[in-house]
Amino acid sequence: MITDSAVDSATITAWLTEAAGAIRAERDYLTQLDAAIGDGDHGTNMDRGFEAVGKALAAQGEATPPGKLLILAGKTLVSTVGGASGPLWGSALRRAGRALGDRPAFGVADLADAFDAANDAVADLGAAAAGDKTMLDAVLPAAEALRAASETGMELPAAIASAATAAEAGAKATIPMQARRGRASYLGERSIGHQDPGATSAVVILRALERAVGAAG
Ligand code: ADP
Ligand code: MG
Repeated sequence: MITDSAVDSATITAWLTEAAGAIRAERDYLTQLDAAIGDGDHGTNMDRGFEAVGKALAAQGEATPPGKLLILAGKTLVSTVGGASGPLWGSALRRAGRALGDRPAFGVADLADAFDAANDAVADLGAAAAGDKTMLDAVLPAAEALRAASETGMELPAAIASAATAAEAGAKATIPMQARRGRASYLGERSIGHQDPGATSAVVILRALERAVGAAG
């Protein structure tokens, strides 16, 4: 039974559509961050990918389960984004989708499992760990916050808000880090003093989930 505190297909579609709009709004900022320690394409990469995700999901019927929508979104990112972030986010969403299976709706505990699955996919593909100055520095604390929320019985909107806040703190914490993975690592110590673009877009995407769940609740 679908309770008030559940993520269903409509929530996933609302989330990724909201994320596409938010990424579009932050595109130039994300690209500026990447220009400082990468090759200046992160905003355009993510924007191209999420625009395609929005279109792919709009073409789906309401009966498609959340897990299937995430797998479709992941495949779409892999096939439309050239940079590292495409395969990384693509595998994350696909692995999260597979973790959710065919269930029509799910709550905080399953969401925490899906986040862990997504983060494992990113770590498997990119071989990065916490502290390497990557998107993982935002999404790992978010997953921990979600797990804690699940264990304390927090409602979904509050749980996701705490995950997004943890991601934001994690993204800020990348500023003093030296990059050890991805393009920014080529800069060595010169990567210090800049916020990681991938960690920053992860916050944008999690804040979009917070708004999507808030709007549904
Ligand atoms: P590219 O680096 O190929 O130009 P993007 O600019 O789109 O790709 O994405 C850069 C972001 O991808 C980085 O800011 C970082 O957060 C993330 N990233 C890069 N390499 C890795 C990795 N090996 N593991 C996890 N995240 C990574
Ligand atoms: Mg780049």
